Amino acid sequence: MTPDFTLPKGFLTLADLGEAWIEGHCVQPDRALRGKPLKLTDWQFYVLAHRYQIRPNARFVPPEEVTLENQPVFNQAFVYRSTLIIGPQKLGKGPLTSAFAAFEGSGPSVFAGFAKGHEKYICRDNGCECDFEYSYWPGEPMGMRHPSPLIQLGAFSESQVQNIYRPLKTMTQMGALKFTMTPREGFIRILSTDGSEGLDRIDTVTSSANSRLGNPISDAELDELGLWLRSNKMDRFFDNASRGAAGMGGRIHGWTNCWDITQNSVAQQIYEAKQKDVWVFYLNPDVLRDENGEPLDYSIKAHRRLIHEFVYFGSPWVDLDSIEAEAASLVARGNQAQAERYFGNRLVAGKGTFVPPTLWTDRTVDDEPTNLIALGFDGSANDDWTAIRAEDSSGLRFTPTFTIAGEEYPTIWDPDKHGGEIPRHEVRAAVDQIFKKYHVAAFFCDDREFETQIDQWARQYGEKRVVKFPTYNPTRMHYELERYITDLAQCETEHLYCPITEVHAMNAVTKSTGNDKYILAKPPGQYERKIDAFMADILSHAAAAYAHKNGLFETATKKKYYYLPD
Ligand SMILES: [Zn+2]
Repeated sequence: MTPDFTLPKGFLTLADLGEAWIEGHCVQPDRALRGKPLKLTDWQFYVLAHRYQIRPNARFVPPEEVTLENQPVFNQAFVYRSTLIIGPQKLGKGPLTSAFAAFEGSGPSVFAGFAKGHEKYICRDNGCECDFEYSYWPGEPMGMRHPSPLIQLGAFSESQVQNIYRPLKTMTQMGALKFTMTPREGFIRILSTDGSEGLDRIDTVTSSANSRLGNPISDAELDELGLWLRSNKMDRFFDNASRGAAGMGGRIHGWTNCWDITQNSVAQQIYEAKQKDVWVFYLNPDVLRDENGEPLDYSIKAHRRLIHEFVYFGSPWVDLDSIEAEAASLVARGNQAQAERYFGNRLVAGKGTFVPPTLWTDRTVDDEPTNLIALGFDGSANDDWTAIRAEDSSGLRFTPTFTIAGEEYPTIWDPDKHGGEIPRHEVRAAVDQIFKKYHVAAFFCDDREFETQIDQWARQYGEKRVVKFPTYNPTRMHYELERYITDLAQCETEHLYCPITEVHAMNAVTKSTGNDKYILAKPPGQYERKIDAFMADILSHAAAAYAHKNGLFETATKKKYYYLPD
């Protein structure tokens, strides 16, 4: 079975013009065909056709008739206000996005009335020195250049946005695009129809470089919307870009791999809202069925092959053997969900790490903690690890150290390194040293395995400071997890690099407990993957919040502790 990309008869679109223009102006940015004209394949043309589908009753106001009362028609001429393109890795979304952005920048991408016959689009009449001409069929929608294109390429991170920006920059330097576009420092200048440099430009915006976000735009190409989450604040980023587009009759176009359906990304929200003025391109491999009428099983090699043949149909540059090799390797390493999303183009629940990896990395800083801290403790006897994490009064989280015989160790214990048993005397010594070295305002302890010990710490350091925290209680834990992820996203808390805590954080997934609540857990079926240091980390942040709320950081410097003999 192969996907069907035929269009109904009489489909009104700027795509025939657009395809010809792209082929005449955009070049292959890389690989074997570098420098050759960019030819659209069937699925790419199908996307272009819908993106530029024109309403049969679209109104056209010729530029010379535009007045304050008689405004030009931009996005209202199109059937779709927005598009979302969902496709697997290596499908070629990057170069296509670049080509579409180029077309929006200096191509005839704005509706200019219906042809009566014999009309032409001629580049030389439109500020481009190339020889491109296009003859319209009678009744075909015509296009003209946008009078003031302002385009944004948006992504969460700089490296992601470069996946679109770099091929576009290459295109402006190799093909006929050079007549209308000039790369500048960090953006691309679009030359007006008279060849002059005005304000028209193509910019990149990311979560960290977003000063132009919310500005009016005629077009936005937003990459990897499946990774735009509330936790990394990209949902607000998307809203701002949408507002910028609405401000000047612009449109928003999203591109993404399949997302993890536990994360409620911007892509997922768009997809599930099913608004009729948003066009979604998605080749769902579940239309393929086995002999029993069931969807194909991605863990079976032969089924994977059929799925890949379907979702990569019409992308001859994709080598299905190397796709299979990458997918099989992910499946073998226990990451079938990821393989299924990335290469199988399936919307499945992923590992769903509680902290998105990019957010964790972004909040890793190099700094010096103060000596005013709160502590979190997650203890176990002999199976899981035991860890103490700290957060100072400014929100900086770190792993404290303790000393035995002149050697310094982090306060994280792996029972396997101690004959299968957590060395409780070391844990006691470490806590003792931390309380001597720092002013400890609060100490939150998971009470499952160390209950007697925690009672003793409470007597020693004060019951107001040493608080038992049941990490298995969904109501309390859910609240703390929500606070943690929000504060992390909003830079209220950051952390020093700790390799163990990082691994544990990247192991931790959420587990629903019903009533819209969740707790933290190991990935299903992967008991050997530890999360204890991250648990202690969450507790240190909860303890710091408790200390701030109760003024304990202020009194911690004055408090005198009574040290009991061991
Ligand atoms: Zn041209």
